[in-house]
Amino acid sequence: MSHQTADFIVIGAGIGGASTAYWLSRQARVLVLEREAQPGYHSTGRSAALFMESYGPAQVRALSRASIDFFNAPPAGFCEHPLLAPRGAFMFAGPGQEDELAAHEAAVRGTSSRVERLDARQALAFLPVLRPEHVIGGVLEKDAADIDVDALLQGFLRGVRRNGSGVVCDAAVTGMRHADGVWTVSTPNGSYRAPVVVNAAGAWADAVGGLAGAAPVGLVPKRRSAFIFAPPEGMAVAHWPLFLDVRQSFYIKPDAGMLLGSPCNADPAPPHDVQAEELDIAIAIDNIERFTTLRIRRPSHVWAGLRSFVADGELVGGHDPALPGFFWAAAQGGYGIQSAPAAGRYFASALLGEAPDPQLAAAGFDPAQISPARFQP
Ligand SMILES: Cc1cc2nc3c(=O)[nH]c(=O)nc-3n(C[C@H](O)[C@H](O)[C@H](O)COP(=O)(O)OP(=O)(O)OC[C@H]3O[C@@H](n4cnc5c(N)ncnc54)[C@H](O)[C@@H]3O)c2cc1C
Repeated sequence: MSHQTADFIVIGAGIGGASTAYWLSRQARVLVLEREAQPGYHSTGRSAALFMESYGPAQVRALSRASIDFFNAPPAGFCEHPLLAPRGAFMFAGPGQEDELAAHEAAVRGTSSRVERLDARQALAFLPVLRPEHVIGGVLEKDAADIDVDALLQGFLRGVRRNGSGVVCDAAVTGMRHADGVWTVSTPNGSYRAPVVVNAAGAWADAVGGLAGAAPVGLVPKRRSAFIFAPPEGMAVAHWPLFLDVRQSFYIKPDAGMLLGSPCNADPAPPHDVQAEELDIAIAIDNIERFTTLRIRRPSHVWAGLRSFVADGELVGGHDPALPGFFWAAAQGGYGIQSAPAAGRYFASALLGEAPDPQLAAAGFDPAQISPARFQP
């Protein structure tokens, strides 16, 4: 295939673009254009890599639920190892927070059947680093799992190439022109043509929409910071779940023999190659040391990524109501990895004019709830 023309151009090789291109490329010629030298350089490569069915608003939960079969049984040849590994997620509460914990428990029980309520004694036996004065009990979501994000992303991209489509890196889209039903998409290294463009540009989705002349959807990228630190000498932590307090002032998750910490921040920021602020890390360390007996001397690795949201917190996926041949696959928020298999599949079916997978409706998915048409005045 000539890589200059295609049926679809996908802008962005994060998990949003890669998953959509994967499903699309089974039936069409696709070109994925990525500004960076490597796919996954931005949000996708900076996540906490957790699958938690109860996380996010209704449509995100439906897409995550509809992704479980793919995660558990990806197509032959997609990856060499399982995409999910058991982890669990534990939210604990302190004195005066009984109602908040009960509300969380009700929400989790609404999505997951393997849920356990732990009283204070059980919680402290389970996670002995918690300080007893901050724990009245907690809720364990047993099916929460670690995602092998790199295997997922590379599996999608490998599939795109195997299907005869292309992924072009160092290809920043700088302009778009629509004439005679065809988009001409310019990059510093050449231009590409296709009748349909998919905007999977992550935090830059409104900026890329602007290049095409689309009205913004009101995307707000929010910085979330994280760091790696050493567990106490001799303490076995590999079996710990991800754990966080009910007000979400921090979370901790085991990560390859170390611990990953985050202040759960969501600080609005323009789309850019975001770095963690020193204050983010100081706040996280302060909160972790207040709620637990862990001591953090010096994080070994510090980073931040952007989680991009529109006002209602749902994804934005579908044809632009005012711009022919322009399709949104954006606003994945803090759930873009766990929802990607089903979201990408849905986007591809909508692009190909096919009926959505019936499994989606069974999971409670309603395309209208994520359509960009909801932002029309
Ligand atoms: C700290 C942190 C923890 C997280 N934890 C989780 C988690 O546990 N589970 C989960 O499911 N999600 C999690 N997320 C969210 C998840 O990472 C995102 O929802 C997801 O990665 C978004 O994918 P994306 O493809 O939309 O964006 P990105 O991965 O940012 O990809 C967009 C791509 O578009 C490219 N691009 C932009 N503009 C242009 C242009 N003009 N031309 C060409 N290319 C362009 C960019 O270079 C980028 O590679 C977390 C995020 C962060 C930051």
